[in-house]
Amino acid sequence: MNIHEYQGKSILKSFGVAIQEGIVADTPQEAVDAAKELQKQTGTNFWVVKAQIHAGGRGKGGGVKLAKSLDEVKEKASAIIGMQLITPQTGPQGKKVNKVLIAQDVYYPGPSKTSEFYMSVLLNRAAGRNIIMYSTEGGMDIEEVAAKTPDKIFKEEVDPKVGLQAFQARKIAFNLGLSGNAFKEMTKFVSALYKAYLSCDASLFEINPVLKTSDDKIMAVDAKVNLDENALYRHPDYEAMRDKTEEDPTEVEAAEHDLNYVKLDGNVGCMVNGAGLAMATMDIIKLSGGEPANFLDVGGTANAARVEQAFRIILKDPHVKAILVNIFGGIVRCDRVAQGIVDAYNNIGSIPVPIIVRLQGTNAEEAKSIIDKSGLKVFSAIQLKEAAALVKEKIAS
Ligand code: GDP
Ligand code: MN
Repeated sequence: MNIHEYQGKSILKSFGVAIQEGIVADTPQEAVDAAKELQKQTGTNFWVVKAQIHAGGRGKGGGVKLAKSLDEVKEKASAIIGMQLITPQTGPQGKKVNKVLIAQDVYYPGPSKTSEFYMSVLLNRAAGRNIIMYSTEGGMDIEEVAAKTPDKIFKEEVDPKVGLQAFQARKIAFNLGLSGNAFKEMTKFVSALYKAYLSCDASLFEINPVLKTSDDKIMAVDAKVNLDENALYRHPDYEAMRDKTEEDPTEVEAAEHDLNYVKLDGNVGCMVNGAGLAMATMDIIKLSGGEPANFLDVGGTANAARVEQAFRIILKDPHVKAILVNIFGGIVRCDRVAQGIVDAYNNIGSIPVPIIVRLQGTNAEEAKSIIDKSGLKVFSAIQLKEAAALVKEKIAS
């Protein structure tokens, strides 16, 4: 689950990770009040107004603006709240901004120069270890750094049995070229960040930039926090941070019906039982020249009501030109599923695209005969190869 920058920072702060202080606001007036409050707390006279959306690259898209007076805070917040923000990560349609974070400007002048670093913590599944990835090239597109100057990206693997060791935190601070107080601050920052990552069951922390201020403090200026959904039951307070307006509405609806649905960009809708079979089905669609429009696992109980709901969700996508239903009747009987498909079809009324149904397993022959006799625009197959050929034929016509 993704959360907003301001929520990610509040989690970091609760674990003692130093952050750029800020207050979230829904309206320009709240933004001004937030700026005044920050002035009281930190003494700052400069602020940044930051659009809160679930996508990075906000700076490039005009969603992060410096404000040098309270009037400017109001002006910038008015411009950003309600805007459709387009960044390299939102797609061309952009995302509507509902909230802004008013933060203290931490790029103030001082005895040394400010520097921006990159740091992320994530799981290396192959190694079975967490890994801290970091770079001196902060504030930039890290994919670009990885492509052009891979030697500027460092990786520190952490053995989960022993945890992050003090020498590792020192190595990171050293590789980032720090000394003196900034060095000490960075080791504290890394330790707290790693502890936060573990404790909140995160799947990714990405802090870009981590800032060294001109007076040698180290803090998180940005926070991309991704939490492991399977562990959310342990963190009801984080679960409450979910912002459904940021998620794909069809995916939200599918989740409410307990369907595992992920929207994709292709033209062949798929309805499958079991995640493994769903992935294999997507491969088959690709091999037959189509592109899957979605991943959809209806689960073990593919009854009429679920099949109907699944059809309704798949059909919300206007790009779908055909639907491939691929069900293995192991626990469920194929004839029951077939009857469910016919009932669902009749309940929905008209389904504008051809449906190719492949049922294999218990009572597959009976199932095929139910479909063939139904008189509906449904094409049946028992073998996957036949089904793939049918998909190819239907999307071509
Ligand atoms: P992103 O573009 O979505 O990654 O948003 P960030 O939170 O990383 O902000 C984008 C950029 O704005 C950063 O890389 C900084 O260069 C700049 N920025 C963020 N906070 C401040 C600030 O307090 N003062 C100044 N001058 N620049 C800031
Ligand atoms: Mn950033």
